[in-house]
Amino acid sequence: MMTEKQHAQEILRRFKKTYPVRGPFVAWKNPLELLIGTVLSAQTTDKKVNQVTRGLFQKYKTAEDYAEADIATLEEEIYSIGFYRVKAKFLKGIGEKLAAEFHGRVPERLDDLLTLPGVAKKTAHLILAKAFGKMTGIAVDTHVLRLSPRLGLSQNTNPEKIGVDLEKWYDPPQFLEVNEYFITHGRKICVKNPKCSICPVKDLCPSAKKFMV
Ligand code: SF4
Repeated sequence: MMTEKQHAQEILRRFKKTYPVRGPFVAWKNPLELLIGTVLSAQTTDKKVNQVTRGLFQKYKTAEDYAEADIATLEEEIYSIGFYRVKAKFLKGIGEKLAAEFHGRVPERLDDLLTLPGVAKKTAHLILAKAFGKMTGIAVDTHVLRLSPRLGLSQNTNPEKIGVDLEKWYDPPQFLEVNEYFITHGRKICVKNPKCSICPVKDLCPSAKKFMV
């Protein structure tokens, strides 16, 4: 009989075996690009974000560039990814805040990141893990939110509480890969109407029976 931690670890082990490549994820070359790309990625696909940021990152290279951006121009430049008005405001606001309070640099502390417009805990955990190698928590995005209760890793529906539950089963060095493997599995197999018959963890998943009837 497996403990809950062993159960969670076995799920991650199978995902690693099943998915040699994680992603696609947003493309970035420095912490500022990662931050901008991640904020833009809400409610859209990585592919669309990468199409938009290719041109955006050529033009806007520093926090000051975003701070000084003409908001109507910025809206036009990111129009194709949706929610462009609010996202343009976030980008300009991020530039202004970074320039005014953080010497134009992306801060390396969770509390500081959370003061930036459009940056919630999920985004902050990802920036810290990917850009700075700091594992402050598991980023609970829409896929992690859907998969965790299905897999019996949490009884909660609130992202904060799901994060706390997952962090009992996984160790800090695993925090980023948990997020990325869950996203990959959530995009490929454990979709809205899950493909349980071909799932690599169906024997470990308490929801498999429910979906396979
Ligand atoms: S068995 Fe079905 S519900 Fe469970 S993780 Fe796999 S696809 Fe998702």
